[in-house]
Amino acid sequence: MPAALDLAKQLIAFDTTSRGSNLALIDFVQDILERSGARCRRSYDESGNKANLFATFGPDAAGGIVLSGHTDVVPVDGQDWSSDPFAAEVRGDKLYGRGTCDMKGFVACALALVPDIAKAKLAKPIHFALSYDEEVGCVGVRGLLDDLRSASIKPELAIIGEPTLMKVVGAHKAGAVLHTHCHGKEGHSSKPHLGANAVMMAGEFVNLIESVGDMLKPDTDARFDPPYTTVQANMIEGGSAVNILARHALVTWEYRCLPDRDMAKVVETVVQRAETEILPKYKARTGEARLMTELHSSYPGLVLDENSPAVAFAREISGANAVEAVAYGTEAGHFQRAGIPAVVCGPGSIDQAHKADEFVALSELVKCEAFLRKVIAKACQS
Ligand SMILES: [Zn+2]
Repeated sequence: MPAALDLAKQLIAFDTTSRGSNLALIDFVQDILERSGARCRRSYDESGNKANLFATFGPDAAGGIVLSGHTDVVPVDGQDWSSDPFAAEVRGDKLYGRGTCDMKGFVACALALVPDIAKAKLAKPIHFALSYDEEVGCVGVRGLLDDLRSASIKPELAIIGEPTLMKVVGAHKAGAVLHTHCHGKEGHSSKPHLGANAVMMAGEFVNLIESVGDMLKPDTDARFDPPYTTVQANMIEGGSAVNILARHALVTWEYRCLPDRDMAKVVETVVQRAETEILPKYKARTGEARLMTELHSSYPGLVLDENSPAVAFAREISGANAVEAVAYGTEAGHFQRAGIPAVVCGPGSIDQAHKADEFVALSELVKCEAFLRKVIAKACQS
């Protein structure tokens, strides 16, 4: 059994779905860290209901290794779970519950080793970085990194424990979520030529997004799966009645971009083509027709750096020969942008993340604990 099992269950019992507060969990974790001698600092969101926690063990010196995880989880709304998602349980060789793999399992492994870290003769600091609102666009970690900069805390590298089956991930895609508002003009649906049906505009817009996605496909990087930038609409709403031309529709869409490509160009292309290929037809019927696109959130990619000390460190510790690239986003890109080399390595598989009956194999937690013990040992060498 992994040493982290009880802690994982305790962390999962806090419902930290991104829409709510994470303070109860932060209080719980800070208490564990401070009782073992960690020096803690928090940074809050505007409401004061959510906090990042940064904690340091070891010498009051520059550098050191960051163990980083987010505290929030995605909603369970509408998902068909076989057991209470917030009462984690072991069935067979797996632990089931919301956040088991994404990513309270990793946080629990790190916390389970706090007594070892506190006892160790650390030659360099070990830091914990726990963020809020990762699942809604890596929002919280920005404040955490700003806080570190203003306090002149400059760790030498960060390990982001998102689920990679403990493989070393040195690159991931960039991404963004966008809202496109389709504004039309209401009218009786028997006379579509006298109004502008925003739902029909939205349909054309979704088609356009697919066409832009197709256009981007030939530009590939074989390390990623899929090996190209993807663009798609995942939510759509609009209209008020079946016999009324819709005045408004909203398309929520995303792109996941190869990390070293021009992210802004994807949006520019979509906006420009929508203006020229969709809007004129509706504009001809009413001057009120408009398409308005706004950026909701975005995160930078993690660009593979062959000389990254974070990648070298994780490879040495795990014995991994390969450095992987993944399509999903993490906070690693933000750390890299802030000048802190980062690598992604954590227990469990992304295939179970965000789904009903999310689980982490107990063997993954055991592997993660072994990995982190080696991290502690390395931090004791000067
Ligand atoms: Zn995650």
